[in-house]
Amino acid sequence: MKEIQSDVCWLEGRAVNLYLGMDPDGLTLIDTGMPGSEGMVLTAVSELGCQPADLKRIIITHGDIDHAGSAAAIQAATGAAVLASAETAVYLQNGRSPEHMPWLIQVLANTFFKFKTVPAAALQTFQAGEILPVLGGLEVIATPGHTLDHHSLYRPSTGLLFTGDALSTRDGRLQSSPKRITADKKAARQSALRLLEMTPTVFACGHGTPLADPEGEYRTRLLTELGQN
Ligand SMILES: [Zn+2]
Repeated sequence: MKEIQSDVCWLEGRAVNLYLGMDPDGLTLIDTGMPGSEGMVLTAVSELGCQPADLKRIIITHGDIDHAGSAAAIQAATGAAVLASAETAVYLQNGRSPEHMPWLIQVLANTFFKFKTVPAAALQTFQAGEILPVLGGLEVIATPGHTLDHHSLYRPSTGLLFTGDALSTRDGRLQSSPKRITADKKAARQSALRLLEMTPTVFACGHGTPLADPEGEYRTRLLTELGQN
């Protein structure tokens, strides 16, 4: 667990990132990792000097198994509310991920990628544009493309952007969702541009090391790649 802002920690899951935000009323987890990640999350909660019941909210950026796979187990262990878009909530209730993979991987995923479902009573849906009462105000941004249910979260007070998989920092390079795992490439490009327009200074991505970009050089480079500079 590493601190990326004074009240935000980065948890490295199995090939995916999770984030814990600290508010006076308790903790918020952003994404949950693959099935079986609950132990790691509960350890992190304890290392922060908190109890499982101090985890108040679990936010899910999209229904992929590496982001949503431990939502049910962490919810059951903590009693936290699970916050997601209405589109993502359907996947959470079915224990299935949205389709956006190359066909053979998709066939395998449809067969093997199932996760424990989140009870409806624990689910709270949010909408794009809503400001969640987390980290002094966390704006929900619709960022379809990688998957159609995808949402990112922006904290304007500190320039911190939780991108989910709309952007990543794989290989130390800020980039949009790789084409081969993108459901709608045109929407993914527009979503990436929407996020960059907000001039975030810290990119907390679902994959790759969180990236501080105070001078905006990574941001400018990606804008150029997307044909906007
Ligand atoms: Zn994903």
